[in-house]
Amino acid sequence: MKNGVVIVGAGHAGVQAAASLREEGYDGPVVLVGDEAELPYHKPPLSKTFIKDAEAKPQPLRGEAFYSGHEIDFRPGTEVRGIDIPGRRLELAAGGTLSFDRLILATGSRPRTLPLPGADLAGVVSLRSVADARLIRELSGKAEDAVIIGGGFIGLEIAATLRAAGRNVTVIEAADRVLGRAVAPVIAAHVHRRLEEIGVRVLTGTTVSRLEGEGGHVAGAVLPSGERIPARLVVIGIGVVPNVELAAAAGLAVGNGIRVDAQMRTSVPEVLAVGDAVNYRHWFTGGDVRLESVQNATDQARLAARTILGHEEAYSAVPWFWSDIGDMKLQMVGLALGGDRHVVAGDAADNKFSVYHFAGDRLIAIESVNRPADHMLGRKMLGAGFSPADSLVTAGPDALKAALAAFQQGTAAAAG
Ligand code: FAD
Repeated sequence: MKNGVVIVGAGHAGVQAAASLREEGYDGPVVLVGDEAELPYHKPPLSKTFIKDAEAKPQPLRGEAFYSGHEIDFRPGTEVRGIDIPGRRLELAAGGTLSFDRLILATGSRPRTLPLPGADLAGVVSLRSVADARLIRELSGKAEDAVIIGGGFIGLEIAATLRAAGRNVTVIEAADRVLGRAVAPVIAAHVHRRLEEIGVRVLTGTTVSRLEGEGGHVAGAVLPSGERIPARLVVIGIGVVPNVELAAAAGLAVGNGIRVDAQMRTSVPEVLAVGDAVNYRHWFTGGDVRLESVQNATDQARLAARTILGHEEAYSAVPWFWSDIGDMKLQMVGLALGGDRHVVAGDAADNKFSVYHFAGDRLIAIESVNRPADHMLGRKMLGAGFSPADSLVTAGPDALKAALAAFQQGTAAAAG
């Protein structure tokens, strides 16, 4: 392959794809193209530590020497504008083309916008990149009052971080509870309560009618009730949309994300896609999903590299995710979609508990608050296909560990 593999998007997925190609022994050219100017960096800290610490620097995914040391031709600040699939080349926004034999699209996602009067005022921002995080940090340094529109993970992380930095923070969530799509109601209620305890005002079941400004800068958010909440900083965190435009314009199959098969191949097999941008049939639920997590991005990237090297394995990683909201470490493993009952271990009053989701007798997901042992064990149980009885769940991690070991021994004996 004389032109080698070109990867578009230098985020979590793109960088892992480049690294995995080399780890797997690929010795052709690898070109990693990203439109951001920075050395690729970890995104999760941006909403957690970065925005409250004026000295914090982005944490690189790999040191600069990694790219040259592994003969990865990293091209920052390079936007790809089009894909010519028959010609096997990319059109670059700055002019010129880049030829490929295989292409990996790792274009990620971008914040959903809110068509709200006043959304274009200065001081109204979303958070995706380190550039956005720098802006939030700068604005929050001058703002007493902040409004967060959207009670999802990123919105609530930002709310807790800004509150810890002494700001007056209001979260406005349109649904009747925070974290609506993502966790069990018992966890959502706990997070809501705890945020209120640290002084965050959390409003659910309401929206913002308009943002008001003074001298071109946001000054307040007006609710449908007429209440005006002062705000010199407004963060819009209402989810993301996948960056599919390049793929769609090139004629690749696109739904809610770029469609890929179990080997991460798009509708054109020489073009693969990974990460936040892709939509696929999930091995675990049987439904089509598009997941937004570091685990999903990096595991898919590893598999894409193996596909390019001729392996035919199907994607079967157990999904997991984490979020730090104030003093709550939330960890999720599996997918709770399709669950019909749950068992709670631990006590919310201690700020340490887990919710085990089942579909019938089958364990499908575990959501934990400050119970990392449950999470780690959950990854093993779901990976092994082990579903514990309810009594084991409430008995705690030691009993679960022993039961899992017995199950694995039984499986190994049956296989042998
Ligand atoms: P990205 O990391 O977004 O990378 C895509 C890259 O492609 C971007 O740099 C983009 O600019 C570039 N690109 C797009 N189009 C082009 C083009 N045409 N030409 C060139 N480059 C292009 N996940 C967790 O699991 N836990 C967390 O706690 C967590 N916290 C998060 C906090 C924040 C603030 C954010 C923003 C995300 C968080 N996530 C978290 C989600 C996680 O970061 C994403 O799932 C992950 O970044 C997805 O990786 P990706 O490579 O698919 O996309």
